Amino acid sequence: QSIAQVVSDHLRDIPDFPEPGVAFKDFTPLLSDGAALAAVVRDIADRYRGRVDHIVGIEARGFILGAAVAYELGIGFVPVRKAGKLPGETLGVEYDLEYGSAHIEVHADAFVAGAHVLVIDDVLATGGTAEATCTLLERAGAEVVAFEAVIELGFLEGRAKLAGREVHTILTV
Ligand code: IMP
Repeated sequence: QSIAQVVSDHLRDIPDFPEPGVAFKDFTPLLSDGAALAAVVRDIADRYRGRVDHIVGIEARGFILGAAVAYELGIGFVPVRKAGKLPGETLGVEYDLEYGSAHIEVHADAFVAGAHVLVIDDVLATGGTAEATCTLLERAGAEVVAFEAVIELGFLEGRAKLAGREVHTILTV
């Protein structure tokens, strides 16, 4: 069984969440299944063994996967959080959402210059969050090796926003 099939078998659509007309991809069934979670974590980790110094996880679902992948690789984890959550000195970036805008932050001293990082999130949708995160990490001195998500919403063409970057997703829907 392919890892894409494992993800597909443990994914559900929640209609009209977070607003009417949106079908939310919910991967909590994947998280709650030990064998499936381990398979996904190992699949991601194997692509980056020896290539990265830190995993960066995007709040909040990127924390769950990212911390597991970091542990599997024996490397550290750095959180990118919504504005106002990180206690130390931060660098931030604002980016546009479909409606309104979002602001994310990272600790200013999270990286030594040139640290190689892998960015992890659950879903690649429009790519706005991923691209803003990569830009922020580069301003913080990191070198972004790749962006990784479990699920890609292909019709939103988020990959176009990440042109020139290494992007990998396990299942495109
Ligand atoms: P983007 O910035 O449009 O690519 O949206 C990506 C962000 O929104 C990620 O942090 C995802 O966790 C979240 N997101 C967007 N759509 C979904 C979904 O269907 N399921 C879960 N998360 C989603």
